[in-house]
Amino acid sequence: MRLKAIKITNRYGTFFMCPRCGKLFKYSKDYTKHVNKAHKHLFKKENKEE
Ligand SMILES: [Zn+2]
Repeated sequence: MRLKAIKITNRYGTFFMCPRCGKLFKYSKDYTKHVNKAHKHLFKKENKEE
């Protein structure tokens, strides 16, 4: 399972928003890093925590 980023485009460019916590990232790389760090538990034990 993967957490899909929400793409947001504004006058500063395109950003990736984390659907779990609403953080914005300029690069998908940074978004992926964030998900792996902050929401890792989501992938380990799916649906265990809401
Ligand atoms: Zn997040």
